[in-house]
Amino acid sequence: MPELPLQSILIIAAAPFFGSFIATVARRLPAGSSIVFGRSRCPYCQAVLSPRDLVPVLSWALAKGRCRLCGHALGGYYPAVELIALAIAAVAVTFFTGPWSWVAASFGWALLALAAADADSFTLPDSITLPLIPTGLAAAWGLDPDRLLMHALAAVGGFVCFAAITVAYRAIRHRDGLGWGDAKLMAAAGAWVGPWPLPSIVLAAALAALSVVAVSRLRGRSIEATEQVPLGLYLAPAIWAAWVAERTGAL
Ligand SMILES: [Zn+2]
Repeated sequence: MPELPLQSILIIAAAPFFGSFIATVARRLPAGSSIVFGRSRCPYCQAVLSPRDLVPVLSWALAKGRCRLCGHALGGYYPAVELIALAIAAVAVTFFTGPWSWVAASFGWALLALAAADADSFTLPDSITLPLIPTGLAAAWGLDPDRLLMHALAAVGGFVCFAAITVAYRAIRHRDGLGWGDAKLMAAAGAWVGPWPLPSIVLAAALAALSVVAVSRLRGRSIEATEQVPLGLYLAPAIWAAWVAERTGAL
C-alpha cells in the first residue's frame, strides 16, 4: 500500500463536510433560499440543529435517521450525498496526484451537487452548470493547450444538440421534454471531456434513466408520458466517469 500523502488525507477528511455542504446547496439553491445564512433546521419541527446534529453521516447514524427532537424520519438524502462525496474523494486520490486530485474531486463534487439538485427538485442550477464551462476549458488547456479549441467546439456542440432537441420537442409536443439545464450541463461536459465521449455519455445516461423507469414500472407504478425524469442525475456521473477514464487512460 503506497504511503498516503498529506494532500490525499486532506481531501478524504474534507469530503464528508463538502458532501454535507453540497447536499444543503443542492436543496436550497433551487428553492432560492440562502445557502450561507440561516442555520440548518429540521424540516418537520423547525428546530435549529446544533453542531452535534450536523456531523456528516455520523449524526444521522447515531440518531438512526431521525430528528433528535421530534423523532421524524429524516430520509437518506444527506448521508447518501455525504457518502458519495467521500467515494468521489477516494477515486480522486487513487487516480490523481498533486493539484489534479483537487481538480478531480472538485469536478466530481460539482456534478454531485447537480445530480442531487436534479433528483431533489428537477433543477440544474445555472450557478453550478455555467461555471463548469470555463473551468472545464481551463482544465483542458492546463493539460494540453492544443485541446482548447476542440473542447470549446464540444461545449458549443453539446449545448446546440440538446437545445435543438428541446426546441423541436416543444414545437411538436407543446410541452417541455428536455430542460435547458440539461443543455447547459452538456456544454459543461463538452468543455471537460471534449467531443468524442459525448455520445456515450448521453447513451449511458439515457439507458440508466430508462432502466430506472422500467424498474419502477415493473414494481407496479404507472408512468405517465408527462412524468419528469431527472436526466441530469444520470448525465452527471456519466460525465465524471468519462473524464476520469480519459484522464487515467482507462479508455
Ligand atoms: Zn424535528
